[in-house]
Amino acid sequence: MARRGTRRHEKFFLAVLVLLVIVIAVCACLYFFVFKEEVDDFLNSHFGDQASEGGTGHEGGSQDGGGTQVGEGALTEISSAELSVHFLELGNKYTGDCTLIKVGDTEVLIDAGSRKDSAGAIVEYVSRYCTDNTLEYVIATHAHQDHIAGFVGSASVPGVLESFSIGTIIDFPLTNAKTNIYEEYLEERENAVERGAEHYTALECWNNEGGAQRSYALSESVTMNILYQRFYEETTGDENDYSVCMLLTQGENNYLFTGDLEGDGEQSLVESNELPRCKLFKGGHHGSYTASTDALLSVIQPEIVCVCCCAGSPEYTINYDNMFPAQAFIDRVGQYTDQIYVTSLATDVVAIPKEESETNREVKSWEYTSMNGNIVVYTVQEADTYALKLWCSNNTTKLKDTDWFRENRTWKGV
Ligand SMILES: [Zn+2]
Repeated sequence: MARRGTRRHEKFFLAVLVLLVIVIAVCACLYFFVFKEEVDDFLNSHFGDQASEGGTGHEGGSQDGGGTQVGEGALTEISSAELSVHFLELGNKYTGDCTLIKVGDTEVLIDAGSRKDSAGAIVEYVSRYCTDNTLEYVIATHAHQDHIAGFVGSASVPGVLESFSIGTIIDFPLTNAKTNIYEEYLEERENAVERGAEHYTALECWNNEGGAQRSYALSESVTMNILYQRFYEETTGDENDYSVCMLLTQGENNYLFTGDLEGDGEQSLVESNELPRCKLFKGGHHGSYTASTDALLSVIQPEIVCVCCCAGSPEYTINYDNMFPAQAFIDRVGQYTDQIYVTSLATDVVAIPKEESETNREVKSWEYTSMNGNIVVYTVQEADTYALKLWCSNNTTKLKDTDWFRENRTWKGV
């Protein structure tokens, strides 16, 4: 009897144990596959962010608690901010880069895309902030039209290099370019040098050669650092990889600009420099799937990513996934932040692949409007730290919350 009773007990406990395991497994499945967001939201709202690993991302911010949401800025604060970084719209439907950095009365202009006639929009915008008509530093990242055409300008629109008094021009040590626009850029650069500008390559800066400097103090707290990457000295078939890279530091804050550097260049950049975590990153190569690789992003872990492009334009591809900003770019950047902002937006897009076109020609046309518009990230000093604020000429909607995104992209980020 006693034996049978013990056996019955054993069977009972075994049954309870099996039941318990099943219940736990079912709960785990429900949590991970069905109710995770709800449970995390509940825990977050009741017990704070530490309740769930990495945060849910609903309130934005990047992983491991370091991320902060950028504050809503005001246009009236920008001129007097200690540091402001402006990503410009370029006055036409073409993708291109132009970034103005203002530190007190010192300005740095990185690139002047996208076409010659962009010079008008750029000069008009820069003049609002550069009141002494002097650009202390100009960086031309690489020889592509969408980065240098505005430096040149056209017969009717004076170029950026002749419109301002230029202090120091820093550009790419190597290029394969044999284009007219590159030749014209060289001419404009030479003219600027004749008027008193200094000219150095990024490699000369890195080597502190002949008066060039690796680091330039823009103010007591802001330093411009030219970074090293191997394509300053090694030739490559990919012109983008010749891009000049620069890190701006302000106290604990870092801001990274890599032009159109691609995966190989980014790998070298990571290996050649002690890159810090970066508050701000200019999305690599206009948000192309070929740049902003994990090798770079995992090191800099950006909190705000600004993309200079005409979102969804068929300018370079008619593959919707790869149009800037590409789905692969968003998937990678989205692991770190949902604070992604884009200058322009393509409208009325017609992009018909060759084989589907009656005339067997590629049909591509589009117009443009502002996405966020001119994007300005600036800093406000709070005790020992510099808080970031965002102001945009059109709106401050995050990329993932735009209509374009909902129709063309998917979000699986933070
Ligand atoms: Zn480009």
